[in-house]
Amino acid sequence: MPDQKILNLIKKANLCGRGGASFPVASKWQSVFDSIKKSGKKGIIVVNCSEGEPGVFKDAHILDNHLLEFFAGLRAAISFFGPENISQIYFFTSADYGKEFMPSLDQELAKKENLIVRKLWRNEFKNGHSYISGEESAMLNVIEFSLAEPRLKPPYPAEKGLFGCPTLINNLETFYNIGLLVLGRFKQERFYSLTGDLKNPGVYAYSESASISEILEETGNTPKRDFFVVVGGDMSGEVLNQKQLKRPVGGAGSIKVVLAGTDPRRLVKEWLEFYVAETCGHCTPCREGTYRLLELFKADPKNFLNFKGEVRDLLDNLSASSFCALGASLPIPLNSYAENILKIKIKK
Ligand code: SF4
Repeated sequence: MPDQKILNLIKKANLCGRGGASFPVASKWQSVFDSIKKSGKKGIIVVNCSEGEPGVFKDAHILDNHLLEFFAGLRAAISFFGPENISQIYFFTSADYGKEFMPSLDQELAKKENLIVRKLWRNEFKNGHSYISGEESAMLNVIEFSLAEPRLKPPYPAEKGLFGCPTLINNLETFYNIGLLVLGRFKQERFYSLTGDLKNPGVYAYSESASISEILEETGNTPKRDFFVVVGGDMSGEVLNQKQLKRPVGGAGSIKVVLAGTDPRRLVKEWLEFYVAETCGHCTPCREGTYRLLELFKADPKNFLNFKGEVRDLLDNLSASSFCALGASLPIPLNSYAENILKIKIKK
């Protein structure tokens, strides 16, 4: 039987994954456990610390400052499934992260629990784009030395993940939060990465329900000049004006402050170039759409900023028919910037 005490703690805290999709952690753990029992195969745990979204660096902060809590969370997962039901643990991260702490990962887990621990640095995979390989099914492909492309779901990783085994994939911050629960220190908080035109950039812990304005105010980061924000990831997040800051921060928990008057062409070019570089090329709407949008922008930036005609068609097509969330994400900053900052009405 799984360790119900840990599961109950997670359920009571109503803990959702911190990778951006906010999937309930207890349901995911239970599905993986059920798949292990049903399939008779051992499970695999993958710690997703890929953190490829510009403006988000909470995982780096945890690795630098909160290893104890992270290990407590990882051990809670091993204890929940039972070490005999887990074959391997993968730690998937950026090349800039965690090399110093990796030896302690070995000592903590490989020796004590007799588990095989593998560390993978996503940037070292020549066949993978950095950003998409943080998407859970693309990450599994990358680990299997296949193309960095998302898989068709179902089956979900909980049922048939890495090498066909039931696989638990949780973000590093999720394990950190579980560690806090186990240690009796969880306070319904999450980390927020703050960047952009502000005085005190950094990573801060605040209530899960804190509003954008509260966080900026309490960290001394509300600019004296007019500004707007990009929340939930610099590249895939929503752009909000100053009247919209009573909302909580969604997605990956980041706030980027941009001063009013910043050249729209610079922002739009940055978004477009990022997606053109990061599209995995698997599906046509994203592969061709991102490229064509950048082409249209370069040909006539002023006309592009009306967000009409072919630009509108391509953005709508990306939202409606991209194979994965990456392609569907580009319209989020562009549309919200057009609506909330440039005050262009967009037909839904
Ligand atoms: S939307 Fe399509 S091309 Fe873009 S990253 Fe996803 S699968 Fe790849």
